[in-house]
This record gives sequence, C-alpha cells and structure tokens, in this order.
Amino acid sequence: MYDLLVKGGTVIDPAQKLHRKMDVGITAGKIAALGPDIATKQSKRVIDAKGLLVTAGIIEFHCHCGDGLYPNAIAPDDAGVLAGVTTVCDGGTAGYANFPIFRRFVIPQARSDVFCFLNLGSTGLAVMPEIWDWRNINTDEILKTIEKNRDIIKGLKIRATGSVAENLGVEVIRVAKKLARDAGLPLMVHVGIDPHEHTPAEIMSAFTREMLAVLDKGDIANHIYTWKAGGVIGADGTPLPEFRDAIERGVLLDTAIGRTQWDSEIARKAIDKGIIPTTITTDLNMTTMQGIVYSVIGTMSKFIALGLTLDQVVEMTTISPARLLREEGKRGKLAVDMPADVSILEPREGDFTFTDGAQGHVFKGKLLLVPKLTLKNGVEIEPGPRVADMVREFTSSQ
Ligand SMILES: [Zn+2]
Repeated sequence: MYDLLVKGGTVIDPAQKLHRKMDVGITAGKIAALGPDIATKQSKRVIDAKGLLVTAGIIEFHCHCGDGLYPNAIAPDDAGVLAGVTTVCDGGTAGYANFPIFRRFVIPQARSDVFCFLNLGSTGLAVMPEIWDWRNINTDEILKTIEKNRDIIKGLKIRATGSVAENLGVEVIRVAKKLARDAGLPLMVHVGIDPHEHTPAEIMSAFTREMLAVLDKGDIANHIYTWKAGGVIGADGTPLPEFRDAIERGVLLDTAIGRTQWDSEIARKAIDKGIIPTTITTDLNMTTMQGIVYSVIGTMSKFIALGLTLDQVVEMTTISPARLLREEGKRGKLAVDMPADVSILEPREGDFTFTDGAQGHVFKGKLLLVPKLTLKNGVEIEPGPRVADMVREFTSSQ
C-alpha cells in the first residue's frame, strides 16, 4: 500500500529518457514505484495528474536566497517550494564571514533543500562590489569554511565585475581557481560588468577573455547571454573564441537571467548556433521575484519560446543541476528509493508574452508551465500567490 499515488500524468524524466504516461507511487517520503498503470486501490491517497506533467523536483541552481544577508535577498522557499521547486542553490550571497548566518538562521526556516556556492569575497553580497582589494579575500578562512560545511557548500563563486577587473586583474581568477581545486569544488564565475561601474569596455572584455582561459572542465559561467561589457557572446549570437574553447574543454553554462543579465535576442541567436545552457536559472532576488522573472519554472517557459524543447528545459532544471551539486543519487530524477521530490506542472497552451527585462525585448510563446502541486519528501505543498501573478503577467499582451 502506497501513501500517495500520482496518477495519470505524463512523466518527463530526461535522466531516464522517460516522456510518457506513468504513475508514481510514494511511501514514507520516498518514491516506491514508477509504472504505466498502478491501481488506485493500492494507495491511501490519489492525486489526479491527468493532463499534467510530472517531473523530478525542479532545481533552481542559481538564486539569491540568503534572506537578510543583503537587502535584495529572498527566502529559500520563495524560489523553492512556493514556486514549484524543491531544491535551491544560492549563487554567492554569503562569503565565509556571513556564511554562519546563512547556515544557522536562513536554511533551517526552509522547507526546500538549500545549497550554495560560497562567495570569494569575505562578506558576500552584503556590500557590493564585494571585491575591490586583495584584503577582501581570505583564502585560509574560505578553505576552513568549505571544509566544515561540505554538505551545503557546493562550489566557489566570484563575481568578476569591473572592480575585480580593474583592481585585481586576472590573477584573482587564478587564486579562486587554485582554491576551488584545493577544495575539490567547481568555480562559478559571473561574467559582465555591474551597473554603476565605469570600467572601460576594452578592459572588461580583455579581462573576460583572460578569465575564460583559466576555467577548467566542470567550472560554470553565469549570465552567458548577457549584453553587457565583458559578455561572452556577441550581439549576433557568436561566442568569443575563448568562450568556444572553454565550452570545448567542458566549462558549463548557466543562464542566470535576472532582469538585467540577459538579452533574449542574443539567447535566441546563440541557441540557433548551438550554444545551449547546461542549467536554466533565474538569479532570482526580491525585485525579480515580483515581476518579469518570478521563478525558474517561468524561465523554463521562456527558453521553450526561444527554441529549446520541453525535454531539454526539464533536463536543465533536474538532472543537470543535480549533477553539478553532486547530488544525482538524491535528486534530479524519479527513481525508486529516492526522496519523493516531485514537481507537478500544468502545460498551459495559448498565446503568452515574455520580456527579458532591461533590454525591453518582447517575445511570444505557445506554452506556459504552471506549478500545480509540489511534493517535498512526499509532502504536498501548494504553490504560493506569486504563481498566479506570473500567469497573469505572461498571459496579458504587453
Ligand atoms: Zn547571481
């Protein structure tokens, strides 16, 4: 007898190459069965998923959920279970000095599972730019913090912005890379200048080229479709030669779109040329959660509109981020004995209108994925009120 049966939905699980009608049986918070037709009488409770999509719990691999660590941060569940997502990863909101606050006070309040990439700058995003001087980096403390918190910290993050390019130069990327290598973790780099910085475009661009040459297989570049100085793809969708080399070496690509961190035209052209993301993410914060972006599930719909398939966007938000977190035994697919983290989504068809935010491009799509119900370790969680706001914004013609 199962505790719960998700009945009649279409399971999409790219990790197991599944895209077909299947039922999911759940017992004691774990997936107990996956099959074409499990009888309802075998379960205490049945969720009717007819017409709905059933995926492994969606993972938001890049958001800013260090609630209280900087003014624009959100709580993990805002990007997580309230948005149809079961696991979130913070992209460098905390540095070593304020990581204990994240660990002791932010994570315990979340129903979503929470991981992070630790910022190379000691204070994380508390004051930005966080790195303008070598004294903002304490390599010994970073390594100690990683060593004590390997269950949460899954990589090292540096925002390689104008202040880094001008004041420290590419040597800081080498230092970050050595630290990451010593810790056995990937390095995640933000590409592109920050707002309010005045670093000349040539300096930013030269810095990005040098930085790309330092990255190894398994490292991650954020904001790959940015239009800003220091970006890795040109306006016509052509990647920098150094970026193409990095991709060939195995550097991974993260969208982290935000409201100002991408240009949907660059994304469309680059996708046409085969520059597709490893992970679809939002860079979500308080501002973008309330409009334009909303959630990673909204972002999946945008990337379908720009040319990716439904199966691709599910892969980029389930098994791909699970691998980057080195958690593929615990999340990212619907396999028997794994925790019952499940996202149930409505594939709504119609005319939907999206925007990339600051660049002001409006683009249309025919499919909107809408979170209907989330299971976290088999516990049912309803979507939060922002899901309805998202549907309203994307459904109205702008
Ligand atoms: Zn970020």
